[in-house]
Amino acid sequence: MLAHEESAVIDHYLYILGVAMGNVAFGVLMLPYLRSTAATSGLRVWMGARMAFGATQLLAWMRPETGSPVLAMLESAGWIAGLTLEAAAYAAFFGYPQLRRYLIPVAALGLLLACAASLHGLPHRELIVYVSLAMGIGAFTTGAILMHPRLSEATALQRLIGVSDMGSGAAMAVWSMIFLAGLPVPGWGEAMAYLAGYLLLIVNGFGFILMSKQRDDARMEHLATTDGLTGLLNRRAFFDRAEAARLLALRQHQPITLLMLDIDHFKQLNDRFGHATGDEALVKFATSCSDALREHDILGRLGGEEFALALPGTDLAGALHAAERLREAVLAIRLLTCGNSYTMTVSIGVVLIDPQEDLAAALARADHALYEAKRNGRNRVEAGLPGRRRA
Ligand code: GH3
Ligand code: MG
Ligand code: MG
Repeated sequence: MLAHEESAVIDHYLYILGVAMGNVAFGVLMLPYLRSTAATSGLRVWMGARMAFGATQLLAWMRPETGSPVLAMLESAGWIAGLTLEAAAYAAFFGYPQLRRYLIPVAALGLLLACAASLHGLPHRELIVYVSLAMGIGAFTTGAILMHPRLSEATALQRLIGVSDMGSGAAMAVWSMIFLAGLPVPGWGEAMAYLAGYLLLIVNGFGFILMSKQRDDARMEHLATTDGLTGLLNRRAFFDRAEAARLLALRQHQPITLLMLDIDHFKQLNDRFGHATGDEALVKFATSCSDALREHDILGRLGGEEFALALPGTDLAGALHAAERLREAVLAIRLLTCGNSYTMTVSIGVVLIDPQEDLAAALARADHALYEAKRNGRNRVEAGLPGRRRA
């Protein structure tokens, strides 16, 4: 880079000032945001990385070429702190917070090397080339991890960031290596490397925040729709999904059936063996039923030991068959906390949802059928009376 100053397309100092301001702006914007939310710890570390990079780049912009070795070392420490914090934030994001343990010695080693290089008069720009190389390799690796097929649940957002990180990282690393090898770097090549660094700042800066936000939102959505004990849909989520399935079935002229399930004599189980056994029974009940169902069947816990099930595309005969299968699956459950000595049973009411009735009306009919199953001796399946037509 030094040797080709005259052909530079982009002004080095203006560039470093630009990215410094970008990083500081990211960090400052995140401060009040992080104060107001219970965001993941990775975001806090990420904000620290932006601040460290921003401060270091400001220092790099201000520091004259002949600056003191103390400032040079401070700058080296800043680059390494930024890189380390960024790696720590990604480690937290990918669910490997224990990796932080290894980051400290690696960072310390990097700092030692950088300080030694500064003391031996390594030119300022060469230091930045080394940092670019480390950043390029880091960004390329991060991008490759985001694109890895093992992350099959990776979102489109993550894959987009992955492609951008790999591209920018490769451009920066290749440029740095060409420069360090002493080969001539054309002006446009250097400009591409700078632009790659800038792209990395923008895409990675926004990208990490968006990825964290996406994950926090998904966690919130999960909390809001899931029953904490059994992991099934909670009451509200069940009604939402079942109503959507009902409307779809109506449009497609497909049958849809609704089942109400209630564990028999559950109060006795609680009273005899304790609440913990009751909880174990609820969890095993949920697992056994889920295992016996198809993926698009909708099972939810309405409350206590009452569950509801919607079977899209299934007629009454099919639903009675499924209910019988569930009844038998529940009979096979063994409860560890009461020494396998208890046989749990369930009563089930089944109705075919009439195209003319709403979900509440169908549920009332299923509840009535369930009541009949209880009245007729429990541990059985009853079909409800057909829905009443509106004129
Ligand atoms: P039936 O055969 O008529 O359904 O009788 P039952 O005893 O199952 O019905 P009842 O509605 O009288 O009792 C339900 C019990 O479920 C009472 C309540 O203490 C218990 N229960 C509700 N939620 C939970 C829970 O989350 N954990 C546990 N362990 N028990 C629960
Ligand atoms: Mg009960
Ligand atoms: Mg009940």
